[in-house]
Amino acid sequence: MLTAELRLALPAWLDAEIDTEHRYADDAAKVALAIRLARRNIAERSGGPFGAAVFDGEGRVVAAGVNRVLPETCSVAHAEMMAFIAAQTRLRRHRLNGEGGRYVLATSAQPCCQCYGASVWAGIDELLIGARAEDVMELSEFDEGPLPADWIGELEKRGIAVRRDILREDAREVFRRYAQAGGARY
Ligand SMILES: [Zn+2]
Repeated sequence: MLTAELRLALPAWLDAEIDTEHRYADDAAKVALAIRLARRNIAERSGGPFGAAVFDGEGRVVAAGVNRVLPETCSVAHAEMMAFIAAQTRLRRHRLNGEGGRYVLATSAQPCCQCYGASVWAGIDELLIGARAEDVMELSEFDEGPLPADWIGELEKRGIAVRRDILREDAREVFRRYAQAGGARY
């Protein structure tokens, strides 16, 4: 029998980790949350070393995600994808900014080629990035995949502002910790 229903789950600890009334005022506060989620995902052994969160224009968290590829047996279950799906489900629209408002995705590491593509259509206005793809590939075994040469320009053409190297050292530290914990075992 074919599978008729698709389901992805975030870890149980995630909801308690986030105060949805708190305003994450600046870029660093938003990326700091994404990094904290990545760290906790390693500590909890609930997925790979990546975290992401979607914020509204007031700086409040709409949804958050962590990497769930191994626990969910799903290659698309990256932190950014989980955050987008959770935000779209919560707001009941496939384009987050489709009815106005500004939305921001903060991610602990530069989106891979899949999450880059998803970012084009998710309906965000800003993308905030901690570690660079080269950091991820230097410090871990993850392949971030091919991106357009001018990947930032392609996003900016579509109205998405990109800011990177936010708390880059803290974000790099996540991958060192992951390697020390034994790498891709969970
Ligand atoms: Zn990805």
